Amino acid sequence: MNPRRYLRDDIDDLAHYAPVQPLEVLAAEIGVPVDQLVKLDANENLYGAPEAVREAAAAAPPHIYPDPDQTGLRGDIADYLGVRPENVVAGTGSDDLLDVVLRLTLPDATATATPTFGMYSFLSGIAGIRHIEVPRTAGYGLDLPGLRAAVADGAGVVFVASPNNPTGNAAGPEEIEALCALDALIVVDEAYAEFAGTSAIPLLDTHPNLVVMRTFSKWAGLAGLRVGYAVAHADLVEPMLAIKQPYNVNAAGDAAARAALAHRDELLATVRAIVAERDRLSEQVGALGWLDPYPSDANFVLFDVKAGDSGEIAAALRRRGVLVRRYDRPDLANKLRISAGRPQDTDRLLDALKEVAPR
Ligand SMILES: *Cc1c(COP(=O)(O)O)cnc(C)c1O
Repeated sequence: MNPRRYLRDDIDDLAHYAPVQPLEVLAAEIGVPVDQLVKLDANENLYGAPEAVREAAAAAPPHIYPDPDQTGLRGDIADYLGVRPENVVAGTGSDDLLDVVLRLTLPDATATATPTFGMYSFLSGIAGIRHIEVPRTAGYGLDLPGLRAAVADGAGVVFVASPNNPTGNAAGPEEIEALCALDALIVVDEAYAEFAGTSAIPLLDTHPNLVVMRTFSKWAGLAGLRVGYAVAHADLVEPMLAIKQPYNVNAAGDAAARAALAHRDELLATVRAIVAERDRLSEQVGALGWLDPYPSDANFVLFDVKAGDSGEIAAALRRRGVLVRRYDRPDLANKLRISAGRPQDTDRLLDALKEVAPR
């Protein structure tokens, strides 16, 4: 008897989110030590978390359940953003809260502007919710009439990443306002807001159907501890708090996130260094002549590969210990996304690119 007969019928059709490989596995496969890898494939902060943040995480009591109301953490996030704690709910990364939004709303459909972050379609599929992809315009702008049509076609939740991953561009405040005029929950995913310096949070006062997602994974260097949060009208936050997994933010993550906010000056200095490095990355990789950068407001740059094949180039870089992100989607054919790291990471990337240059 095959136990798979008890599974849902569509299990084989669900889009498979392809997360990055663990570092040790990669290092063993490539045959280089972990500390020799140049990891520019997942938009992590390669400066890492400050010592005080790591100490705070290590000091969290492992035998005591964390606070399910997240009182201290929500208060600190509210102070950071200038909102009230009733407007904040934290999760096991923002991915957790994207899922909470779906389970809270159970819409007929969801919509997003593609190409974009894969979790919106992945989580919709797992929740059994139809997912509508509205292609972005040339230059990766939002197709507002297309998104309006998706809402008319049943999309009760619209996900827009700003800055968008992997294209790098942020939506303007007028575009977010136009989206909020639609009769749907508008989820603006601001995983990269600290790099962009812009946010839809000021629009929350006037647009109760807006949910802003944020995370400590990228700017604060806490991707491994999984802490994200949503900022929204209290009438949305209250039921999100009620249906989330009670202990979704673990004690170490809670302590680290609060310490990150307490040491934000130090972290924001690395954010500025990464933004400067992003600009150098665009310029110097672009100057090679066969990779064309798209403008970016985030901590990564999308490049159009003008000569050669993106898959072969990514594989050749990987053999040299340099990891970048490539895609299987037709709308990202021959594109590479490269994260901005420290100056030495860009230098290693540039050396490797010169070796693998198509001739
Ligand atoms: C990286 C990323 C996330 C993931 O955030 P977590 O808090 O680590 O779950 C969310 N949204 C976008 C657009 C991202 O690129």
